[in-house]
Amino acid sequence: MNMNGVLWSDTSKEPEVSFETSPKRSEYDLAIVGGGLCGLSIALESSRRGLSVILLETGKIGNGASGRNGGIVVPQFPGAIRPSDVRRLLGKKKGDQLCELVGGGPKFMFDQIGKYQIQCDAEQNGWVQPAHSAKSEARIRGVFEDWKEFGQPVEWLDRDATFAKIGAPDYLGGWWCQSGGTVNPLALCRGLARAAVSHGLDIVEYAHVSHVLQNANSTEIQWNDKQINARKVVIATNGYADDLFPSLKKTIVPVRLFHTFTKPLTAAQRGEVLPTRVCFTDIRKSGGFCRYSPDGRILSGGLVYKIGDERANGVQHSIERLRQLFPQLGTPEIDYYWEGYCALSATWLPSISVLSKDVYSLAGFSTRGVSISQNLGRLFAEYLVDDRPIEEMPVEVGRPEAFPLRSLKTVLGGYAFPIFKAADRLGLT
Ligand SMILES: Cc1cc2nc3c(=O)[nH]c(=O)nc-3n(C[C@H](O)[C@H](O)[C@H](O)COP(=O)(O)OP(=O)(O)OC[C@H]3O[C@@H](n4cnc5c(N)ncnc54)[C@H](O)[C@@H]3O)c2cc1C
Repeated sequence: MNMNGVLWSDTSKEPEVSFETSPKRSEYDLAIVGGGLCGLSIALESSRRGLSVILLETGKIGNGASGRNGGIVVPQFPGAIRPSDVRRLLGKKKGDQLCELVGGGPKFMFDQIGKYQIQCDAEQNGWVQPAHSAKSEARIRGVFEDWKEFGQPVEWLDRDATFAKIGAPDYLGGWWCQSGGTVNPLALCRGLARAAVSHGLDIVEYAHVSHVLQNANSTEIQWNDKQINARKVVIATNGYADDLFPSLKKTIVPVRLFHTFTKPLTAAQRGEVLPTRVCFTDIRKSGGFCRYSPDGRILSGGLVYKIGDERANGVQHSIERLRQLFPQLGTPEIDYYWEGYCALSATWLPSISVLSKDVYSLAGFSTRGVSISQNLGRLFAEYLVDDRPIEEMPVEVGRPEAFPLRSLKTVLGGYAFPIFKAADRLGLT
């Protein structure tokens, strides 16, 4: 899992720091497995509030999905999931709380970046969910109406207004929310780690946790030839979950995604493509999304498909998708390509698994983890510190539940992309 070829690694203004490879103590209040946005956010909040905390990461901080994602900060659930769907699934109280966390999460996140002066090229120019087809227009209008009723500062854009904001001529309309934006996600991880260490967090890198064993009063955590004990443990391995807890691994389908960035656009092109530097994500099954990097490149990507040369497939898809979205660009040249795993849950929403007494996991952030993994992580830490019942957290909480047909879906996922593209072309999405 090295970060070679990831633009965020080449452009991070937060330096890469080498952390300890051994723990400083033998006992902690809390041990966190996984150094992505979720684990780091739990670590930051719990250290800030006085717990003794250790975070164990199998590689370097941020080398899972958190350092490889698109860095698009989205004040919405995945796809066309509506606040009313969430209330139906979780009940009104939890549903409203989760909507609050998703809708209000970006504000907290950007404020925190400011508070700790994290150098992650944060830009809060808003996020648009545009309609690529008549069917998607009806679906996203429902999403927009729900958020409006919920009191979010959202605005419907007609076709011209959508074009004026994002410069892609084929969208039929869309809605936008000012609180969305973009970050360099790897730099954000490094900055969160720096902030948490300033509050006393111990980080151990290259610590591949292999055993979590329950004792009478604490839990023993083992990696390589080392071990510590902790009162409570959180597994924050999301799409990178391995056999540490086979039951946890079965709750999600690991989805392999690729991202690409073009060469920097010219000044004239930048006046036409995303002229307001907004970012956007449509609900095509084959993914229509875009943002700028600070050095003027634009993003594309999708699901890795395992037919022939996977990298060449991805690059070709990105070129086609960008030509389709922004015909004014001609044929863009791709400079960067990389891959990562996100964790798809059966509901597309995150949940908390209770693995054993005082051992929990937060997972299933699906394709929308940048903001919610941090905000849910922070809230989880508040619950731990205040000794509040975890069952009251605003997500499903319980024993790990297997994703139906997980193995089949994991295999089929590698071949689904051409089918998704065809469904989009036929206007079925
Ligand atoms: C290519 C891609 C693009 C995406 N784009 C976006 C986007 O633009 N916007 C958005 O909102 N979301 C996006 N997502 C989703 C988002 O990145 C994730 O939901 C989020 O980063 C999850 O964070 P996490 O901390 O839960 O998991 P991760 O960041 O994956 O962290 C898990 C960590 O656990 C570690 N680990 C695993 N097993 C062990 C072990 N046994 N011992 C120690 N450590 C272990 C891994 O090394 C890893 O660092 C994208 C995902 C991908 C893959």
